[in-house]
Amino acid sequence: MTRRRILLAAAVPLLRLQAAGVPGISIRGKLTRSADDKPALEVNHKLIALAGDEDTMLVLNDKRLAGADFEAIGHFTSPDHFEIDGIYARAMYVHKDGQRLLITYWCDVCSIRTYAPGNCVCCQKYTDLDLREHDDDQ
Ligand SMILES: [Zn+2]
Repeated sequence: MTRRRILLAAAVPLLRLQAAGVPGISIRGKLTRSADDKPALEVNHKLIALAGDEDTMLVLNDKRLAGADFEAIGHFTSPDHFEIDGIYARAMYVHKDGQRLLITYWCDVCSIRTYAPGNCVCCQKYTDLDLREHDDDQ
């Protein structure tokens, strides 16, 4: 419980980076790479470049999600560029077997959940990708 509180406290300043009060729109397609190897979403045979905050980019670059049926919430900054809402807005989902799943990462050693890939803050184990129906344990 103490650990979780520390993580939440660290997250609060980042909330201010989100666009204030403007509801995001949702786009869905296949998570892929552009010709210059940047994250992109293929929607109706058209590539849309994806951008976001640091943790969002880590998720987009996670090879375990390559080719996923992917949904992002945010705003178009140009017709082929889409800025995804901040990581704490829970703005990225994978669609699988008819379910809309939140992208999370889990350390089974410490039972710590995070929202970007990387090493566990506690034991440094590389966290497992854990697609979840509900974000119910935070
Ligand atoms: Zn751990």
